[in-house]
Amino acid sequence: MFSYRHAFHAGNHADVLKHFITIQLLQYLNQKDVAYSYIDTHSGAGVYELDGAFASKNAEYDTGIGPLWNLTDMPAPVKEYVDLVRGMNPSGKMRYYPGSPYVADKVAREQDRLRLFELHPADSKLLADNFRKLDEHAAQQGIRSTVRGKRVLVTRGDGFAALKALLPPPSRRALVLIDPPYEDKQDYKKTKDVLAEALGRFPTGTYAVWYPLLQRMESRQFADKLKQLPAAQWLNVVLTIKTPMPDGIGGLHSSGMFILNPPYTLEPMLKEVMPWLVKALGQDAGARFTLEAGTQTTGTRNTSER
Ligand code: SAM
Repeated sequence: MFSYRHAFHAGNHADVLKHFITIQLLQYLNQKDVAYSYIDTHSGAGVYELDGAFASKNAEYDTGIGPLWNLTDMPAPVKEYVDLVRGMNPSGKMRYYPGSPYVADKVAREQDRLRLFELHPADSKLLADNFRKLDEHAAQQGIRSTVRGKRVLVTRGDGFAALKALLPPPSRRALVLIDPPYEDKQDYKKTKDVLAEALGRFPTGTYAVWYPLLQRMESRQFADKLKQLPAAQWLNVVLTIKTPMPDGIGGLHSSGMFILNPPYTLEPMLKEVMPWLVKALGQDAGARFTLEAGTQTTGTRNTSER
């Protein structure tokens, strides 16, 4: 049950896709003063040491943040993401990598609320410890230490089960990130079911789902199933960094972000950034992206591919 540790994958191409999009979704919410909730149902440890035993085992960051680290000329949304990672590595050496909770902590404002769930006993402890350290650091700098207790809540528990009780949030504004391991194929069904329930309680929330593209049927059918959910709009972007090989050979080749109720700015931004990202992270002629968007009533409305 607890075999998955995100530290083995920290900073890989899938994290790049997920985290740069998460930053854009939060920045869109930042445009209005009204507070919002960021709910991370599967948080991981929050911060990863890239030179630690787990991350350096397969050095997956070489497929993601690694090739971006020393670049100077990047599209603005990628630069914002790389700058956030650089900000936690002031020595200039790529040592620490942010998980989604850290990304959200950096981008969300004083008035916003972060609700973080992690089931793994070791990773939930690391997550709580990491936020405690951030709090101490903030206290030393004289910033926002006293509010963190309310601003960020770390819970060891099942994020699928916890989501319902948090919706709708008091301000009726929220980004929910759902990022399970998918090692258990039930995660596909659980994600779809929890989204159906969440949309029933809070139809206008923005929901972002990360998923891997694998050969197993549940993975291949997943995006099409999410398109059937009763969201006003959806957007599905897939990044492929190399020619797909059978599962288990050569590592993960593709992953996607499926966003329900995306901001209108997301699609044009991705149309601009994804071709650049394919060039920057692509490993062979099989590298590409697909971008689809649609509404429940009109179905898929357009597709970009390169
Ligand atoms: N969102 C993180 C990030 O971007 O940095 C990575 C999360 S990782 C892909 C998935 C995490 O979900 C793992 O740390 C795993 O222990 C945790 N997990 C698995 N099942 C869970 C559940 N039902 N509720 C909460 N966490 C769960």
